[in-house]
Formats: sequence, C-alpha cells, structure tokens
Amino acid sequence: MPGVVSDGPDLLVGGVPVRRLADRVGSTPFFAYDRSRLTERVALLRATLPTDLELSYAIKANPMPAVVQHLSGIVDSLDVASGAEMRLALDTPIDPEAVSFAGPGKSEAELSQAIAAGVVIEIESRLEAERITKEAEQVGIRPVVAVRVNPDFEVKGSGMRMGGGPQQFGVDAEDVPDLIRELEARDLDLRGFHVFAGSQNLHAEILIEAQRKTVDLVMRMAEVMSTVPSYLNLGGGFGIPYYGKDQPLDLAAIGGNLHELVRERLRPAFPDARVLLELGRFIVGEAGVYVTRVVDRKVSRGTTFLVVDGGMHHQLAASGNFGQVIRRNYPIAVATRMDQQPSETVQVVGCLCTPLDLLGDKVDLPPSDVGDLVVLFQAGAYGLTASPTQFLSHAAPLEVLV
Ligand SMILES: *Cc1c(COP(=O)(O)O)cnc(C)c1O
Repeated sequence: MPGVVSDGPDLLVGGVPVRRLADRVGSTPFFAYDRSRLTERVALLRATLPTDLELSYAIKANPMPAVVQHLSGIVDSLDVASGAEMRLALDTPIDPEAVSFAGPGKSEAELSQAIAAGVVIEIESRLEAERITKEAEQVGIRPVVAVRVNPDFEVKGSGMRMGGGPQQFGVDAEDVPDLIRELEARDLDLRGFHVFAGSQNLHAEILIEAQRKTVDLVMRMAEVMSTVPSYLNLGGGFGIPYYGKDQPLDLAAIGGNLHELVRERLRPAFPDARVLLELGRFIVGEAGVYVTRVVDRKVSRGTTFLVVDGGMHHQLAASGNFGQVIRRNYPIAVATRMDQQPSETVQVVGCLCTPLDLLGDKVDLPPSDVGDLVVLFQAGAYGLTASPTQFLSHAAPLEVLV
C-alpha cells in the first residue's frame, strides 16, 4: 500500500501510532482522516492541472465538517448535493457563488434556500427549472443557475455511470437548446453548464476521451446561449485503487490533456469563464482509515474468523455491498502488528448478525488476537455516510481529522 507508514508494530495515522490514536479517540471503531494527505492530494492536483482550472470538492464523498473546513481553505469551490451539504459549505469561508448545488429531486425548501444563499443551482430537469422560477419570485432574488447536461455519449469503465443514455441526472443534451431559450426568457442568471458522467474511473485514456467530448458538448451548448457562458463545470470521476490489480490513475496524462483543452479550445472561446473540475473520492478517499478492534477469534471447521467491533454498517463498500458486482477485499492490515509477516489466512468479519458483514475474505495476516486493531484502508470517501448506520442499531462511530 503506497503511503502506509508504520513505527515498529504500529501503523501511523497522520503521524500518530494507531494505539495512541485509539486511546485518544476513546472508543473503537472509528474513522481517521489524515489532514496532511488531503493537503498533499490537492497540491498534486494543483501541480498537474492547468492553474486557471478551478478545483471543486464534492462534499458527498466525505461531509465530516472538519474535513470540509480544511478542504475549503485549499480548493476553490465546493459541490453540494443536498440542503444539509449546502449548509456545511456555507459554514466555510468559501464564497456562496463558489458553491454549486447538483442532484435530482431538490425540494422547494432546498431551492429557496439555495436562491437566498446565492449558490449556483445546477438544473436537473425542466420541472426543476420551473420550480426555481417560482421560488425565486417568492424569495425576491434572481437565481444563479447552470444547466446540468446529460451527455449524448457514455463513459465506459466508471464504477458508477451517471451520464449518457437515459438518466435521472441532468437534461438530455438534445433538449438543452429549447430549455436555454426558455430560461433566457425568464429572470434567471444563467451562467453555463455542468457535465458529470460518472464516478470511480481508473482509465486515463477513457477520462481523456470523456473530457474531449465534454468540451465539444459545452462548446455546442454555448452556441445556443445569447451570452458567453461564465461557468463550465467539466465534472471529474477520477478513481482511486481499491483492489490488488487496480493501477493508480495516470494523473499526468489527464493533466496534459486538460492543459491542451483549456489552452486550445476553452480559453480562446471563453477567456473569462470559470472552468471547474469537481472531485470527491480522488481528494479524500486515500486519506481515510477505518479502525476496528478484534473482539473475538474463533475457528469453525478449520476456518479462522476474526470478529471485529465494526462492520458494514459503517464501511459498507468494504463489504462489497455498495454497488460492486464482484466482492473483492479492500486493503486491510493488523495495524498493531505491522512489523510481522502474514502467517495465517483468516476471515475478517464485522459484528453484525448477517453473512453480508464480511470485511476480509481469505486474507493473509500476521497472527492476531482479541485487542488487536484491524484497519481498512481507502476509507476516506463514501464510508460512514454511505453506510446503513442504523442496521443492527449499534452506536455510530466517531470520526477524527488527524
Ligand atoms: C458524486 C458526485 C461527484 C463526486 O464524485 P467522485 O467520484 O467522488 O469524485 C461530483 N459531482 C457530482 C455531480 C456528483 O454527483
């Protein structure tokens, strides 16, 4: 695992030995996010991407308030997908106009709050556009909007596809010209477009192709507008490696392509527009660990089980039940025996009374026992808030930023 550092037997999390951190937190299981890894990740993106490309953090990947506050100081903008996420974003020093609000089914209350706040509302449907107009009349503020376009192309190789074909997201590209004409007839501040085609993609060549097509698409859509768009949100979808054979994304290749697209296509046409990439998982995913403690060790008909005090109710994705087709192990370690070689093959299971609660299937680990800490890596994105925390009614785990 790149970036894994230990001191003797103890894994270091944010520079702190894991046992000391567990004592500091006071209870297991818990999530710990490494502040310096967040900072390094943003620095890597800044060094690789064009400097006039804005970096937006998609809060839904990890909405822990301390994480959002920390990132708000080093990214340019925040992307939210609910009224509650919008409040988190508005608590940071980021300018409300640098907050974008995407997502289907926004409620009237969320829309009127967004209008009052002055955030960029990304229109997901024709009906939503009407609702915005109606709410804006009541609030008495001219809403700032962009159109989320459901592209007329698909992006292969994404863990979750969110554009192309029929979608609940965005307005189909072929319907956008009519919608723009309608929007321009109303009292709205139409800024531009948003395209987000999918999440968790590790194939640079596919993302490069998608970015080229996204630029083609926004250039076509821009021609329909009677003004020059000032907001072009190109999406993201950058993935991180979870499984043994996953290769990290070739960020340099993607950066090179974006330099070219910005320089040769976007800047000549839109010299002053804000051009954004919005990323969640790529920024926070690798900065987080989920720390559990072994509470039982048993052998059943020749198979050894380590039972830990956490499980799929906190870290659903690691159990393979978060949209994965095939269950594979997330990277896992006995964080209190980092100096020992694997010596046995075990099943690591959570404390829920269901066979779905499997965190490590036939994993090779050092000999471990009750009291040892078992850590799941790559837990910084879509962990706690993407898990069924109420299932089995255990207490919620703590989260710390280290
Ligand atoms: C979920 C989401 C993101 C973040 O996706 P990641 O794969 O975590 O980078 C960005 N934009 C929109 C509109 C989203 O819905």
